[in-house]
Amino acid sequence: MIMRKQTSLWALFFFSCMFLVTTPLLAQEKLSKRQIQKIKTETLNQVQEQHKMTQVMIDKIFSFAELGFQEYESSAYLTHILEQAGFTVERGISGIPTAWMAKWSYGTGPVIALGSDVDCIPKASQYPGVAYHKPMVEGAPGHGEGHNSGIPVIITAALTVQEQMKKNNLGGTLVVWPGIAEELVASKAWYVRDGYFDKIDMCIFTHVSSNLSVSYGQARGTGLVSVEYTFDGEAAHSAGSPWRGRSALDAAELMNVGWNYKREHLHPLKRSHSIFTDAGDQPNVVPSKASIWYYFRDVTYDGIMKMYNDGNNIAAGAAMMTDTKVSSRVLGTAWPRHFNKVIAETMFENIHTVGLPEWSNEDQQLAKAVQKEVESTNQEGLSTTLSDLGKPQKNAVSGGSDDIGDISWTIPTVTLRFPSNIPGLQGHHWSNAIAMATPIAHKGATAGAKVVATTVIDFLTKPQLLEQAKDYFVNVQSKETQYKPMITEKDPPPTYLNEEIMKQYRPQLEKFYFDETKYDTYLEQLNIKYPTIK
Ligand SMILES: [Zn+2]
Repeated sequence: MIMRKQTSLWALFFFSCMFLVTTPLLAQEKLSKRQIQKIKTETLNQVQEQHKMTQVMIDKIFSFAELGFQEYESSAYLTHILEQAGFTVERGISGIPTAWMAKWSYGTGPVIALGSDVDCIPKASQYPGVAYHKPMVEGAPGHGEGHNSGIPVIITAALTVQEQMKKNNLGGTLVVWPGIAEELVASKAWYVRDGYFDKIDMCIFTHVSSNLSVSYGQARGTGLVSVEYTFDGEAAHSAGSPWRGRSALDAAELMNVGWNYKREHLHPLKRSHSIFTDAGDQPNVVPSKASIWYYFRDVTYDGIMKMYNDGNNIAAGAAMMTDTKVSSRVLGTAWPRHFNKVIAETMFENIHTVGLPEWSNEDQQLAKAVQKEVESTNQEGLSTTLSDLGKPQKNAVSGGSDDIGDISWTIPTVTLRFPSNIPGLQGHHWSNAIAMATPIAHKGATAGAKVVATTVIDFLTKPQLLEQAKDYFVNVQSKETQYKPMITEKDPPPTYLNEEIMKQYRPQLEKFYFDETKYDTYLEQLNIKYPTIK
């Protein structure tokens, strides 16, 4: 399967090169530098004019507050917008009910994918614009990662570019897609496995951040495999006949003890964490089933697979000690990310043109108050100077993961980070939700959409850029490392995850859905004074 994948990648590459050389494109070959500049200036103005639409999308998805694999409202809302704009939507891709891919073509030309995530974080419910912990629904999920802003960036950019393609006769195809269940890293490797990126030339991905930036080469952070181990034992009356029971929970606990001893000998770049997903039902019944779920992270594929193998051995040892049986299931995977130099450099020029948003005093007051509230080491408010172009790290840096890694090893890809959140927060936390339905998120997303749209225009109007990006992908990025999927052909995506939690909270969250027909902003609907500070 790996060989087949590589062969088809090469075939795709050569086919694409031939295509570029022999097929007459539409207008783009004839455009002068001045004409391209004019289109880009119009594009920037048009994105700015769409600011209201961007704001509504951000507020709406914030209010849905849906966890991974349960993004039903968000997906219905977003695909409707794209269909209204003439995109053709394929729903339920890779067997994931909330996943989709939307396409719009105009003549022939580059096929450019634009993506971002949509899911939120458990127990992160929080009123926007309020600089201290105030859940909207106690215990409910919330956008404590800021994924509500990414797809609005992408859709605003896509609809703007669409207009410019029609107006200037620029051939190409736009493919808009969501990262479903990114917090579980459980969709993008499946899209790749199922061929959804086979006929796409390049990908621009976006992720919320606190600055406007892009990088190339191996990114900071890790890749991971997410595995749940389930132990099977024998139930018995815990007091009446404990000698007849074999505790699955004992096995899960022993596995945890074993892994914690292992942890002392892990290289500091590696990360691992776990939760018990089934720890029995009640004390007087010896648990016949128990499950423990691990994320094994490292900065290389080989390192991840070594940890996975060690985990399997420790699980087998725990089963042996307790006379139970163990099985495991892969729930998610993410390759360490590697981003394309040519796309990143092209994008970085546009970042310079766009610059950071102009923050109001209110924006800065909110940011500083939140930083103070969570005792951040950064108490300087919102970013006012642009980051440099991110270059490959000499020494790898550990940290989080994103399954965009799998796509970045399939086609030339970058991630644009855009300034919709407050710097210096801990992540995956209610404080990260505070800015996400305020002018900070709205302005940051408009800046991000400007960069995405003008970068797409660059690739539509200068065919040599795509050739160079593909050359980097084949001859630099893939020279020593070959992508091997961590999932098999048969692993199903774990779409049942989070179902129970959403069933519990959705009825309460529905009362808070943003109604853009009645209110200008979500802050207005919630009757929040901006900013609300202690
Ligand atoms: Zn994220």
